[in-house]
Amino acid sequence: MTKLDERSERHLATLHPAIQPRIVAFLSAAKSLAAARGLDVRIISGLRSYAEQDALYSKGRTLPGPRVTNARAGFSNHNFGLAIDIGIFRAKEYLPDHALYRELGPLGESLGLEWGGRWKFNDEPHYQFRPGWALGMTEAEMLTALRARVAKKVDILA
Ligand SMILES: [Zn+2]
Repeated sequence: MTKLDERSERHLATLHPAIQPRIVAFLSAAKSLAAARGLDVRIISGLRSYAEQDALYSKGRTLPGPRVTNARAGFSNHNFGLAIDIGIFRAKEYLPDHALYRELGPLGESLGLEWGGRWKFNDEPHYQFRPGWALGMTEAEMLTALRARVAKKVDILA
């Protein structure tokens, strides 16, 4: 597989092994598009443990600061190694708002990923993979089934 930048590689390794090649394909293509504008695209979040998800959920609720997620532990695809968040960078500078986020969405979709830019709770940096068994399920139904598979220690993509 193509080598990505160090930060992306670190997050990539936390993802379900079966989706890693698809994520590499997406990120490689995204990096080419970004490079033409002097920018880079990196994975800034991959797998989040249930504990990490609950810590995020507390922000803006029981902890100070703005709310950053509506998902409690087990209610985000990040908790199952099926999701990434990307960041756009100009050298070391992180660009949280850039038109390129919107341009990359259809690219990710063309590679079989779901894009958070389509959601009502708009999340343009977010991409996720839907298991074959979850086609036709709502997001809530899929997450319920994912939690059950983790609890039963069944491969989440099987
Ligand atoms: Zn995300």
